[in-house]
Amino acid sequence: MQDCLFCKIVNKEIPSSIVYEDGEILAFKDINPVAPVHILVIPKRHISSLVDLKEEDETIIGKIYGVINKIAKQEKIAEDGFRVIVNCGENGGQEVKHLHFHLIGGKKLSTKICN
Ligand code: 5GP
Ligand code: ZN
Repeated sequence: MQDCLFCKIVNKEIPSSIVYEDGEILAFKDINPVAPVHILVIPKRHISSLVDLKEEDETIIGKIYGVINKIAKQEKIAEDGFRVIVNCGENGGQEVKHLHFHLIGGKKLSTKICN
């Protein structure tokens, strides 16, 4: 999708530090990390947000969690634990309108949920 930052990252028009890539999924380091490990995992195909998911998108969500599992092990945060966050819409604080999963770890995270 034109003018989508993460589509541009997928198309390598904007550089990123890629930690995982396959035909459908890309994972790259967040430019403004909030923890030692902060990786964004996205479907390559443009899906605007969690509320824009269609029934046919459900398979990709399962695959994304599989990739998160792999990356957590690769980044050596699987044992100590980590957090996965999806911000959705205005109240959820979603800034980039391309569905993304934040994988955050490498330190003890401060609160169980945000408020
Ligand atoms: P959101 O607030 O939409 O859930 O998260 C967007 C995330 O994208 C933020 O954590 C922000 O730091 C990250 N981000 C924004 N622009 C870029 C960029 O150009 N490159 C990378 N790697 N991350 C970005
Ligand atoms: Zn996009």
